[in-house]
Amino acid sequence: MILVLTPDTRPDTPEFKQLLGHLANLPGISTRVHTEVGIEQALTEVYLIGNTKALLIEDMQNLPCVEQVVRISEEYRVLGRHKDDHRPTHFDYNGVRFGQDTLNVFAGLCAVDTLEHVELMMQALRDNGQVCTRMGAYKPRTSPYSFQGHGKACLPYVFELAGKYGIKVIAMEITHESHVEEICEALYRTGNSTGVMLQIGTRNTQNFELLKIVGRQQDFPVLLKRGFGITLDESLNAAEYLASEGNRKVVFGLRGMKTNMADPHRNFVDFAHVPVVKRLTRMPVCIDPSHSVGLRASSPDGILDIMHVTAQGVIAGANMVLVDFHPVPGKALVDGPQAMLIRELPFFLEDVRIAREAYEQRVALAGRYREDE
Ligand code: PEP
Ligand code: MN
Repeated sequence: MILVLTPDTRPDTPEFKQLLGHLANLPGISTRVHTEVGIEQALTEVYLIGNTKALLIEDMQNLPCVEQVVRISEEYRVLGRHKDDHRPTHFDYNGVRFGQDTLNVFAGLCAVDTLEHVELMMQALRDNGQVCTRMGAYKPRTSPYSFQGHGKACLPYVFELAGKYGIKVIAMEITHESHVEEICEALYRTGNSTGVMLQIGTRNTQNFELLKIVGRQQDFPVLLKRGFGITLDESLNAAEYLASEGNRKVVFGLRGMKTNMADPHRNFVDFAHVPVVKRLTRMPVCIDPSHSVGLRASSPDGILDIMHVTAQGVIAGANMVLVDFHPVPGKALVDGPQAMLIRELPFFLEDVRIAREAYEQRVALAGRYREDE
């Protein structure tokens, strides 16, 4: 059970102490307090753990400072959607809103290779009104002999250029806890000219120790990719690891499932799960069409498969699109064959806009049918 307290409840008030005193006397129940300090207000939630079945919602509702009582009936205690659960389905980071009702495109380099390519990419993003991007510095590679990413060496110029071109959020994969520290330090040195969304890749979805460490910090939001060979439930529980440690700024990423049934695509596109994740949890949902499809094939209609599946995800309500672009894909050190060209960026963005508009029309249509019921 979760007690959502009135906004800005302070822990040093007699009412709050009275509440905790009352809860401490409940047999077989332990409590965990979580406070999230936002720009406008501080929100506190008290988690009741143990045998809460015997507790009556009405009794809890009447306790001091309590605004809302949520009985947790399903999995994913913190990030899940529960009955009569009015907790938010969005968060803000560095001036950008991420929610189940918004859409952000993160077009960029799979892996940072040269300063020139980073600059060309960011310039194109700015010219096309974009404030988010993807830039890989730490790359998990199948072969130990493949390029592993420039690591912390590239962070200063990536962050400086982001500041120069007005990029507010960079999705950047980390594979080890030390990378969080390196990113923090480099951001600080470049005057916090941009923000970072830490990405945990599909190979680390169930790296529980990494999840716990990343969950304990609240400086950066997290994009958790679905594990490519585990169930959706297992991946959602992995997201819950981040939240249970304190970080609820989590976006869930669909990136396709590994099976040769997907041939000729790199992975089996799983964007049918966009509405499922939105129904089961309060997380915004990201789709990664590049790592799902993995190649630049196009169909007779002249539309790349990557764009077709992007549209499929967006028309189903996706909230974020992570997509590989590169100024010279032939020279990319990682995943060149799936990169889109910079000149295709306006085409891609317009296609996304059309799909989003169609999604909004579908929602409005569904609303009209609901009213008729
Ligand atoms: C990536 O986004 O660069 C990446 C490696 O993705 P995934 O973890 O989905 O393979
Ligand atoms: Mn890649």
